Amino acid sequence: MKVLKFGGTSVGSVENMRAVMQLITDGNQKIVVLSAMSGTTNSLVEIANYLKKKNKDAARQVINQLEQKYYKVVNDLYTTEEKKEKGKTVVFSIFQTIKSFTSGEFNEVGENAIIAQGELLSTALFAELMLENGYKTVYLPALDFMKIDSDKAADAHFISENIAKVLQENEVADYYITQGFICRNATGDIDNLQRGGSDYSATLIGAAIDSEEVEIWTDIDGFHNNDPRFVENTKKIDQLSFDEAAELAYFGAKILHPQTVLPAKLQNIPVRLKNTMNPSDEGTLITAESSSHGIKAVAAKDGITAIKIRSYRMLNAYGFLKNIFEIFEFFKTPIDMISTSEVAVSLTIDNTKHLKEIVSELKEYGEVEVDYDLTIACIVGEMIAEETGFAAKVFAALKDIPIRMISYGGSRHNISVLVKTDLKKQTLQALSNDLLNSK
Ligand code: ADP
Ligand code: ASP
Ligand code: MG
Repeated sequence: MKVLKFGGTSVGSVENMRAVMQLITDGNQKIVVLSAMSGTTNSLVEIANYLKKKNKDAARQVINQLEQKYYKVVNDLYTTEEKKEKGKTVVFSIFQTIKSFTSGEFNEVGENAIIAQGELLSTALFAELMLENGYKTVYLPALDFMKIDSDKAADAHFISENIAKVLQENEVADYYITQGFICRNATGDIDNLQRGGSDYSATLIGAAIDSEEVEIWTDIDGFHNNDPRFVENTKKIDQLSFDEAAELAYFGAKILHPQTVLPAKLQNIPVRLKNTMNPSDEGTLITAESSSHGIKAVAAKDGITAIKIRSYRMLNAYGFLKNIFEIFEFFKTPIDMISTSEVAVSLTIDNTKHLKEIVSELKEYGEVEVDYDLTIACIVGEMIAEETGFAAKVFAALKDIPIRMISYGGSRHNISVLVKTDLKKQTLQALSNDLLNSK
């Protein structure tokens, strides 16, 4: 059974929801994972932010606007009075839940519960649309099987056991509709897989049911060789390996949530990226093999902070790096890039929640310098960090851009450079002109 995920734009209007229904109803049994309608999660985050700041009036205003939008969706989506009534009941009940958080104390549990309502809305409304049109459809609540542990990592064992149970408990159907993004956490409260997490839900579900293929349907014809939001003339890539796609997703290619590839890679499940607006295009296929050598694509990850630690005594000082890494481990802060010299080490992080504490502990081992507002540009392709010539090409392309750090050889398919964020566009365009579009 395939798993098909549709993103926010794909279900972002009544017309698009109808297009998705046409697309999936080919008689083949499938699990369909939906995001919230585009814009909804942002509005829900806005509501939660107002409530955190105790600005209840502003929160209520956004809630009311959003609620009205959904009544209009319901009115346009269904043809029968019966379904319009059913749709209104769904919207009313979900907005009652959201409104219940505007009184009393507001905490993270409430915040996560509010942010989850977008996917609950889109899936409930879409499942009713499928039923209205006579398709054998079952609604699967993701909160019954999708789970993260106390480290916020997906609990693959729980997910596969419980999705099997949920599928068994429900009637056999052609189309199973479920939510992306949302899950329960170790304490059983509603939580999520971080922004853009519906892609990750799809591959987690795909792995749990040992799916033949996971399809990620979005608003572009596949994985492009550079970020189309910043660079002109980007081109679609027909095929990527799991490793290449994982590097690109991790280093900022927004088309895939950073962790999407891992569950698919572990179980060797092909992932295909497709365009909902242009379904006949083959899209991009991600599999174990890489189809060709050489540089394939570039991605960029913003919000990077670099920390340089100049040792008080690094020469021959074994244990120095261990001491440093232990500090990051203690504060559960992942390190992205690392670069060493005889007396100093530079590394980057994107999670600055514990930066203050980390810096204060690092000072025990050396002088510490912190640089903010940096971007990692990541160049990806098979064998590019092993064979001759690729590094030279990258540095030639970046000859006019000051580079703060370089990472080469960590894997054979990634070269990363750290630059100031205000040089990001220039960096991506230079790499595009000289490396990707030069032939
Ligand atoms: P969805 O809501 O369907 O999950 P997203 O907005 O999360 O869609 O992801 C698709 C968008 O990702 C594209 O519209 C595009 O602007 C952006 N994007 C960034 N980098 C790339 C890339 N390398 N290839 C394709 N799209 C990219
Ligand atoms: N709706 C969520 C978001 O906007 C998840 C997703 O779209 O993948 O982040
Ligand atoms: Mg997305």
